[in-house]
Amino acid sequence: MNHITRKLGIIGDGQLGRMLAQAANPLGIICAAINPSDGMVRCPLTGRELGHGVRTLISESELLTFESEHIPLVMAEQLMHELPLAPSTRSLVAMGDRLGERALLGRHNIPCAAWRECHCADDVRLAEETLGYPLYLKRSHGGYDGRGQWRLTAPGELPADLLEAMAHGVTILAEAHVPFVRELSILAARGREGQMVFYPLVENSHHDGILHVTIAPAPGAEHWQQTANDWIRAVAEDLDHVGMLAIELFDTGSALLVNELAPRVHNSGHWSQRGASHSQFENHVRAVCGLPLQPPQVNGITVMLNVIGEQPVPALAHAPGVQYYWYCKAPRAARKLGHINLHGHDYASLLAQVEALKPLAGPTLTTTLAIAGQRLTTLSR
Ligand code: AMP
Repeated sequence: MNHITRKLGIIGDGQLGRMLAQAANPLGIICAAINPSDGMVRCPLTGRELGHGVRTLISESELLTFESEHIPLVMAEQLMHELPLAPSTRSLVAMGDRLGERALLGRHNIPCAAWRECHCADDVRLAEETLGYPLYLKRSHGGYDGRGQWRLTAPGELPADLLEAMAHGVTILAEAHVPFVRELSILAARGREGQMVFYPLVENSHHDGILHVTIAPAPGAEHWQQTANDWIRAVAEDLDHVGMLAIELFDTGSALLVNELAPRVHNSGHWSQRGASHSQFENHVRAVCGLPLQPPQVNGITVMLNVIGEQPVPALAHAPGVQYYWYCKAPRAARKLGHINLHGHDYASLLAQVEALKPLAGPTLTTTLAIAGQRLTTLSR
């Protein structure tokens, strides 16, 4: 910790980069973020344009990180020749591709759903025969929030866009259905010297492939915590990963299986802005900048609600007790626009907070609040 980084460059200029910059600010670290599509470099906090192209990002940075595994690898490789990049492109490659993830998990005997690699219709037919239905077909590279995915429920014609994707060289991961009772995730940060801090397992509820609700810590998941910690440590150490990482998990009631890995801060970790002494964003900044990691002290229960597709009315966004994050993005169906953290010391008080918001919600938030309300009702019995 001889030299303290003061300028951190972020590849990607979405909400994750913005929240990294918010967490970096109190540490005296100023961020610049590049939009990989148009090359514009901006201050993530103010949106002020700093210039254009990778040279601008380099001149504004002492080291670099990324907010998404879907950034162009060539850009990351070009930049890492100029400045240190953390996590490294090893993490980017291994966790930016579903088949790469399967190889990584296999090396450590970490269980996941039965799967097959598909390049053509015959491969998919074979997967249908061997893996059964429902069958999940996922683009190996580039899909997110349920996009780039197909779910086959019976033999029949294959979707035209799936055939077209494979004809254009897209590799597909075919995956057997997992009869999960709930979805969990584990998040951890790893520093440059290999030290790690772990967040508690959290419970995630998806709708149409998009995360809607996280409850942190996951109720009754303490018995899985050590297993999840061991798995995330094995993955992080294998790649010499530096920064936050996340593993999405299926809990079948009797077993834990990995769904997906992410080499970065994760939507299911946003609760830590309210419910932990040190958020995932702060520990990512600390890890990549070589500062000591801070083990998160978790207080109470936090419910994170994603704000998807619509802007909440001010009465909801600023209701008592609501911690509101708005990403300043244009509303669009199925787009993550912000999130809300609610905090309490028991499920009943959280349920009361959710119920109070319901009359103020638009259509999508109504769905999100219904999902949260249902789960909290069960938990508070
Ligand atoms: P993914 O993009 O892989 O995280 O998938 C989005 C959502 O689809 C997951 O969060 C699950 O709810 C569901 N899903 C994906 N794969 C499977 C599977 N193999 N079995 C059951 N549900 C799945």
